[in-house]
Amino acid sequence: MTSVQLTDRNVLVTGGTRGIGRAIVLTLARAGANVLTCHRQENEAASSLARELKEIPGDHHLVRADVGDPAQVRRLLEEARSRYGSLDAVVNNAGVISHIPFEKLPEDEWHRVLDTHLTAAYLVTQQALPLLGEGASVVNVGSRVATVGLPQRAHYTAAKAGLIGLTRTLCKELGGRGIRVNMVDPGVIETEAAAELPPEQYEALQARYRALTSLGRLGAPDEVADVVLFLVGDLSRYVTGGAIAVDGGI
Ligand code: NDP
Repeated sequence: MTSVQLTDRNVLVTGGTRGIGRAIVLTLARAGANVLTCHRQENEAASSLARELKEIPGDHHLVRADVGDPAQVRRLLEEARSRYGSLDAVVNNAGVISHIPFEKLPEDEWHRVLDTHLTAAYLVTQQALPLLGEGASVVNVGSRVATVGLPQRAHYTAAKAGLIGLTRTLCKELGGRGIRVNMVDPGVIETEAAAELPPEQYEALQARYRALTSLGRLGAPDEVADVVLFLVGDLSRYVTGGAIAVDGGI
């Protein structure tokens, strides 16, 4: 079996301390990449990721940076430049969950969610460009709900739908430089964020998605990370502008 090797590749993953981001960081590091990741809060999730990364050979770093804040993104990319000199991949993963009926959705919450998911991908990718050379890969973590909608998530689905346009356009603008840009679109993945839903909503969601998926179950963070590994590595060298659903066949 051909396995993906990322030895000596330098990768930036946003939002790596929990859930899907954490799985992506660990999967890429285990494949041999040097991984720089960021988060906002100093908490047990961050300490535990730092401990796990220490056990994996490579030049890994965990820094605090809010990807919704342009100044902090500049600092993050400066960190990448000074640590690695260049980047082989950027994974725009950081995200927040927010459920609010549209008619009550306050402006600041709209902006917070758009900033974290969409503006952050613009800021991080644009700031990373000088570090990305021929063969580099950008992966945006989207969502299956972007194209179908979900009640109480107007801001979230709008942000994720925006990522589709960003991905497709950057595929065209950056293809000439040999830079590939793709998306992964998770369905419902069992992470801490999904579990933060009110229990009755979470149980209803679980039951609904079990019934909706062809595979009859929710996904695991590792199952998204494996697709990101494919998109970062050379096995996907002719794949760009793609959006791979990781949703158990909804
Ligand atoms: P989690 O809440 O489990 O983890 C989010 C991670 O992002 C944490 O490490 C968090 O760290 C970090 N983060 C959040 N906001 C920021 C920010 N502004 N700057 C830097 N880091 C940040 O989320 P998931 O793993 O569930 O989701 C990851 C991605 O996958 C998101 O883009 C989400 O929209 C997408 N997705 C998830 C699905 C699911 O079912 N879980 C389904 C479809 C898509 P900290 O709190 O310290 O900032």
